[in-house]
Amino acid sequence: MTTNHYDVVIVGAGLAGLSSAAYLSSKGKKVLVLERGQLGGRAVTLKIKGFNFNFGAHAIYARDSSVLRTFEKELGLNIDWQDFNPTKAKYDIGDDLTAVPSNVQGLFQTKLLKGIDKVLFTFEILKTMLKVEKGHPHMSIQKWMEKKQVSEDVQDMMLTLASSNFFTREPEKIPSDVFFTYYSRLFTTNKPVSYIGGGWQALINEFVRVIEANQGTIMLKTKVEKALVENDRVVGVVTPEGEFTADEFVCCIPPKELVKVFAETRLEHAVAQHAEYEPTVVMVYDIGLKERIDVPFSYIYDKQNNIFITDISYYDRTCVPEGGQLLQATAYMRQADVGNKEAAEIRKQEIENLYDKHFPGWREKLVVPRVSARAVVQEIKWTMNQKPMPTFFPDYRNLFFAGDWCEGQGQLSELSFSSAWQVSNLILEKDK
Ligand SMILES: Cc1cc2nc3c(=O)[nH]c(=O)nc-3n(C[C@H](O)[C@H](O)[C@H](O)COP(=O)(O)OP(=O)(O)OC[C@H]3O[C@@H](n4cnc5c(N)ncnc54)[C@H](O)[C@@H]3O)c2cc1C
Repeated sequence: MTTNHYDVVIVGAGLAGLSSAAYLSSKGKKVLVLERGQLGGRAVTLKIKGFNFNFGAHAIYARDSSVLRTFEKELGLNIDWQDFNPTKAKYDIGDDLTAVPSNVQGLFQTKLLKGIDKVLFTFEILKTMLKVEKGHPHMSIQKWMEKKQVSEDVQDMMLTLASSNFFTREPEKIPSDVFFTYYSRLFTTNKPVSYIGGGWQALINEFVRVIEANQGTIMLKTKVEKALVENDRVVGVVTPEGEFTADEFVCCIPPKELVKVFAETRLEHAVAQHAEYEPTVVMVYDIGLKERIDVPFSYIYDKQNNIFITDISYYDRTCVPEGGQLLQATAYMRQADVGNKEAAEIRKQEIENLYDKHFPGWREKLVVPRVSARAVVQEIKWTMNQKPMPTFFPDYRNLFFAGDWCEGQGQLSELSFSSAWQVSNLILEKDK
């Protein structure tokens, strides 16, 4: 058994763990990252037959005001931003296509709303944006719409937006303050959605480059089995490779894993309180095609079935062999359907029908399909009765938490980055 001491031990090498490690090491901290599997966590890029399949579209929302942008500037990361083209984003509304209201321009072009409703909705967003800063009432979107007696068209559009942006088939349960905070960011950005050229792998390589340049250590296939807690401090972690001690600990692993690591310690109860929640689960069905099927859109959202298709290769040519196309379909799953084989088969059929409708001829051009029936897009789903985990417990001053299950800004990876940014700064502030 070996024992080694570090300034900061970071558990988990997903986007939260790697961004925190890169930032802390760039500020002179001696960091150790312990990861039970491979680099990247859920942000993976898989190469099959010349196609780079990413888990998810690796879309970053409002990148100009995102925390990833702050990391990019602070760390000198090389990110090949590929900005999404709003004129190529469409909603499938049955027998017609219409613009996605991903910004004010899209709102005024969309057929989802008519004349006065557009003005009223924009006004409501602007009014609420001002209130959000001072504290918007915490109620579900459903309740908010009832209270405001909004027209049916506006209700329909709000639920469609909530569904497509929050990866859910139950948009009415989303807290209205979370919705408006998110939407107000999209209304004030010129970059509503951007993809990362080279996919997640390119971003992960950049974080690793910074960590290594600053003498940080990353140990893969090294599972943290147990935390050692003495009084109000964590003093070390136990792995099959030995024990590691540190001044500070940042746990970037989901609450369900934290429960195991902190079992039989004084923190067992505090951690367990945050481990009962439902994640946001989707089915992902990617297809690699040998030739492009040219259509006038790069993103299409089927409003009826809550499925969207992104032409990833329209934005990122590096993910396909010469002349090829990579399409990614994401279908939101109802909680009750997660793990149900029949429900998964039905969703798969619905996705194939959508490919048939908008990308005719795809079956003949198919080189490789990749289906994942149960992908956790966000570890904790936004509903009124689920609360994200705090980034620290006030009684334990050298233990921090980051990940997309934690309190932070935005959705998905932005929650991982924003919580990582916050905890890293809390650690650095101790030196001041
Ligand atoms: C299908 C899909 C589509 C997505 N699309 C997008 C998108 O378009 N845009 C976007 O912003 N986000 C997207 N996301 C979400 C994004 O991938 C996640 O928010 C992000 O990767 C989460 O990173 P994390 O570090 O918070 O957690 P994780 O990636 O879960 O990292 C946790 C890490 O901890 C490790 N670990 C767990 N237990 C231990 C232990 N005991 N010891 C050591 N290590 C441990 C795990 O192996 C893992 O590597 C998508 C996700 C999926 C699945």
